[in-house]
Amino acid sequence: MVNQETLEKYAQLAIETGVNLQKGQTLVINAPIEGADFAKLVAKKAYEHGANYVHINWADDELSLLRFTYAPDDVLENVPDWLQEQYNWFADIDSAVLSIHSSNPDLLKDIDPARVALAQKASSQAMKKFREYQMNDRIRWSIISIPTGDWAQKVFPNESREQAVAKLWDAIVKIVRVDQEDPIAAWEDHNETLRKARAVLNERNYSSLHLKAPGTDLKIGLPKGHIWHGGDALSEKGVVFNPNIPTEEVFSAPDKYNVNGTVSNTLPLNYGGGVIDDFTLTFKDGKVVDFSAKQGEDILKHLLDTDEGARRLGEIALVPDESPISQSGIIFYNTLFDENASVHIALGKAYPTNMKDGDQMDDQQLDEAGINDSLTHVDFMIGSDKIDIDGVFENGETEAVFRNGTWTIDVK
Ligand code: ZN
Ligand code: ZN
Repeated sequence: MVNQETLEKYAQLAIETGVNLQKGQTLVINAPIEGADFAKLVAKKAYEHGANYVHINWADDELSLLRFTYAPDDVLENVPDWLQEQYNWFADIDSAVLSIHSSNPDLLKDIDPARVALAQKASSQAMKKFREYQMNDRIRWSIISIPTGDWAQKVFPNESREQAVAKLWDAIVKIVRVDQEDPIAAWEDHNETLRKARAVLNERNYSSLHLKAPGTDLKIGLPKGHIWHGGDALSEKGVVFNPNIPTEEVFSAPDKYNVNGTVSNTLPLNYGGGVIDDFTLTFKDGKVVDFSAKQGEDILKHLLDTDEGARRLGEIALVPDESPISQSGIIFYNTLFDENASVHIALGKAYPTNMKDGDQMDDQQLDEAGINDSLTHVDFMIGSDKIDIDGVFENGETEAVFRNGTWTIDVK
């Protein structure tokens, strides 16, 4: 089982490296009620760090399930004004937001996907303003995870609840580097590695990428002015933070009108309280024109039908197969981890910060630049040790970027 010292290091990492809380700043924590002890440890670190106030929003899987089981559709669609205003209010005063994602991947497996989609859309609409704060890095935000019983047993189905949680802690502790003497220094090194990789890709300035793997042959255009990010990010106020812990990816925005071919997933996708797997999408001029899934096809359909932008891409992320998450051999059923095991793409909204001056552009300018908009943003994993990627330069020349799931250009 994870010891107290490691938990303290993890909480400290979330405060310093994650949201980089400043003295006098307010911290909002979204935390699972099952992880109350850890959330309170984070709160303690935050106050020690000079937090002005710590507010915790408790997430409770059982309560969510009650709502999905018993509430009629119109109640599922009801997001109280004060709830959205609360987030906007905290964002307006430049609070830092730390989300601890740990829900049961199968929580809503017996609920009609149409009802889940309904609730998800209503909540995305309500959170639109707050999401813009987040996706433009106007506030500092970070996502981490801690094990909870149901989630751990989904990952390790043959273990007792207690043992599954202990095993998941062991895995997470290594992946987020809190097993190291000085995790904050380890993250500085790691961020430096990702900084170099993104600088190399920005310098290359490919006009498109060609991805080939079993079940995948996809050409992804990259818009003029696209920017690769990865690791730490810079908030609007010029303060560095890490939006995701862990993170192993460098990512950019695809041209929403220039994606063609077919892509197949390589890891299951946990979405909307269920799992989508063995699926294939076919793109034409940036839009999904055909799809199929052996598992969760209904959920996938609802995801694609969220809105116009849900059928187009908002992210391409490169992760080499040597990623410690991939090497752990564990399927986490939690995108925060699984996306960092694998090359992935996302359906839905793109980060405006992946375009030069994108955070200053209005919706129409972003659209003209090829940057996608949607209520949703869902990463799914398409990489493995079998993926090859070619980079295509503006003059039509190509070079091998990835072979057999790993870098072939020098990103160090
Ligand atoms: Zn990603
Ligand atoms: Zn993403």
